[in-house]
Amino acid sequence: MADPATDLALLRDRLGVIADLEQALALLGWDQHTYMPAGGVEARGRQAATLAGLRHEHLVDDRLHDLLGRLEGRDLVGDDAALVREARREVDRARRVPADLVARLALQGARGQAVWAQARASNDFAAFAPELRTAVALQRERAAALGDGDPYDVLHDLYERGSSAERVARVFAPLRTEIRALLDAVRGSDRAPDLDLLARPVPEAAQEAFAVEMVRAFGFDFARGRLDRTVHPFAQRIGPGDVRITTRYRSDRFAMALFGTFHESGHGMYEQNLPAAEARSPLGDSVSLGVHESQSRLWENLVGRGRPFWTWAFPRLRAHAPGVFDDVDVERFVFAINAVRPSLIRVEADELTYHLHVMLRFELEQRLISGALDVADLPAAWAEESATLGLPTPPDDREGCLQDVHWSAGMFGYFPTYTLGTLLSVQLWEALGRAVPDRDAHLAAGEFAPVFDWLVANVHDQGSRLAPEELVERATGAPLSADAYLRYARAKYGALYGFA
Ligand code: ZN
Repeated sequence: MADPATDLALLRDRLGVIADLEQALALLGWDQHTYMPAGGVEARGRQAATLAGLRHEHLVDDRLHDLLGRLEGRDLVGDDAALVREARREVDRARRVPADLVARLALQGARGQAVWAQARASNDFAAFAPELRTAVALQRERAAALGDGDPYDVLHDLYERGSSAERVARVFAPLRTEIRALLDAVRGSDRAPDLDLLARPVPEAAQEAFAVEMVRAFGFDFARGRLDRTVHPFAQRIGPGDVRITTRYRSDRFAMALFGTFHESGHGMYEQNLPAAEARSPLGDSVSLGVHESQSRLWENLVGRGRPFWTWAFPRLRAHAPGVFDDVDVERFVFAINAVRPSLIRVEADELTYHLHVMLRFELEQRLISGALDVADLPAAWAEESATLGLPTPPDDREGCLQDVHWSAGMFGYFPTYTLGTLLSVQLWEALGRAVPDRDAHLAAGEFAPVFDWLVANVHDQGSRLAPEELVERATGAPLSADAYLRYARAKYGALYGFA
């Protein structure tokens, strides 16, 4: 029998090749969504399919399977044990889905998104319905291939491992009731934010210069990253020293680029500070979408929409955009960027009603996957569930069930991670406040290192060594719940809108 050290070195080599292929794919994807000319679409599709095919071949290679089998027979501990466990998870996942299903999933994902984009543009749900039907059927087939659990749970686990619909529902239940109560209190308030502030034109160059100054101060490292423009903002790690974030600008909606850039910088800082020594192994990957989203939400909301931060940042914003906010004080500004109002579009929702959008999708996608809801009845169910949740009824499907790309691409079980991540961001923030009692004073002085360092030590540098729930418990001392978020929301909106 081979020495485990030799086998571990072999395993790292094999996983390294897979990681290289993934990172090359990531670069192709980044380029496609930033600078690739329209004429590149076809060739890029082929290039990506070839690399993805190679990656799959390496992952299902019997030699890798056997190597893992040998190592699983040893008494490994620490990182070695975690490495074998993580590799096994990916390998099993890849081996369980037959090649023809992988190909059909890829085809549906590409075609579904194209058909969806057309259908949304022309507000034509009927044109999209057959694609959605195919997507649902394929995802059921995929879930059956992956495991014998409830299909929705199996799919949700792809994005948030160890989680389940039951757990999500349990975490969401108090949130649903409390958000309603808070919305009632907001509606009953005689204070109103000055929303016109948010429409004041700020030149794009000024928005960009200010955002870059802020995220650099947060800790996003431009020597190991960059910021570019795109249509749908995202963050992408190409390699340990190369993490790219993107944003979009509109001169009459400065808050969109500003908070969008803060958000992506949170994703980017996580990716920049994953354990560098594990850059070519699954241990160096982010641990779950929920944990990823906790990092973006923390910088976007807990830091970026907070009063302490703006004590320091507001004069700087004014300096970048002379004359725009001369008549505005920081209180008025902070109230405007934290305004609450139920709206139609998820990505434009405020911090409070955002969760209602996630609950709507969580409810409907479970019913789609279980078969309780037929695709043809989705628009009606969307309207009905919106009303139940207290969201406005969409005037058409474009602003209703056609607004998000996820389902068209075959992503079911993804939406809950947005709320799980947001709840976690606040739970981390509370823990951080206990570890750094003068946190807010630091923020008001433009000192972000105490926040950044704590996140690196407790989240980023953990990579995928711990399961997500374990990481949460170690970092915050408790399993994930809505408690911290609700304490935060009551205090924050109570102060802004003047209720107890
Ligand atoms: Zn995000």
